[in-house]
Amino acid sequence: MTIKVDQEKCVGCGMCAGLCPEVFAMTDDGKSKVIGDNIACAKEAADSCPVEAISVS
Ligand code: SF4
Repeated sequence: MTIKVDQEKCVGCGMCAGLCPEVFAMTDDGKSKVIGDNIACAKEAADSCPVEAISVS
């Protein structure tokens, strides 16, 4: 499975990195990037992302 963050949609709220610090990290330009592969946590973050920028497929 692949975890992706749509850089256009991400508003940099930091929620995903807070929920799954092993999967998401915030970049210098205030966006989230994928750094890990914990699918279960990534799905939780995807469900919680306010702008649905995270996809797990
Ligand atoms: S939860 Fe969504 S909007 Fe917030 S930082 Fe993560 S990907 Fe971006």
